[in-house]
Amino acid sequence: MLRPTTLLSSRADDPHKFRRRGVLFVLSSPSGAGKSTISRMLLQADPLLRMSISATTRAIRPGERDGVDYHFVDLPRFKEMASAGEFLEWAHVFGHRYGTPAKPVDEILASGNDVLFDIDWQGAQQLHQLAGGDVVRVFILPPSMAELERRLRARATDSDEVIDARMSRAASEIGHWDGYDYVLVNDDAVRCFEQVRTILQAERLKRSRQTGLIGFVRKLTAPPEAQG
Ligand code: 5GP
Repeated sequence: MLRPTTLLSSRADDPHKFRRRGVLFVLSSPSGAGKSTISRMLLQADPLLRMSISATTRAIRPGERDGVDYHFVDLPRFKEMASAGEFLEWAHVFGHRYGTPAKPVDEILASGNDVLFDIDWQGAQQLHQLAGGDVVRVFILPPSMAELERRLRARATDSDEVIDARMSRAASEIGHWDGYDYVLVNDDAVRCFEQVRTILQAERLKRSRQTGLIGFVRKLTAPPEAQG
């Protein structure tokens, strides 16, 4: 189910200057906690971040686009992709299968960008097992279960049955909050977005990620005659 990937990223116009390892940035939350809005805001604000587009066996919803929101595939195709080792991770969620295609992730990292994943706790766990410190896991909590239900109903994309199923799943998803590096409460989308963005920027500056820093520091501390 898992396979190693290229994890080095570098780019001349990266404001962080030094060659560094790419960030695999995972956002998880129960549906309705605002994760899609936060993802959209992040992608708009951050030119170095690209979304990983998952494959899923679930049906396309009104307003969704194949190849943009998901790669919508049937079960035989999904199984074929899984057995060919095409996924970095995959899991059963809400009775369907969801998986992260590996190749685009490799390509995003190789082009010097970081990758944003909207995946559940199972995916976060698998990615972490695969890529350890390159993975940053962020969990977004709703301010209350009543507010979560209100948001799900306001979306009006799902039937009552689906909403009830999502509410009962939400509690068990929230139960996995302790498998994450950062946990936020989304009571205000703009504030939550700013917090998530701060996390991403701080993670990019981690010493362990900035592999190019050593050359700079050496030059900085070299005697003046060696600095040219
Ligand atoms: P939805 O069907 O509402 O778009 O997504 C349902 C859940 O599946 C969400 O919690 C989402 O984060 C999760 N999910 C989406 N893509 C993937 C994936 O590639 N892998 C895993 N493990 N979960 C995913």
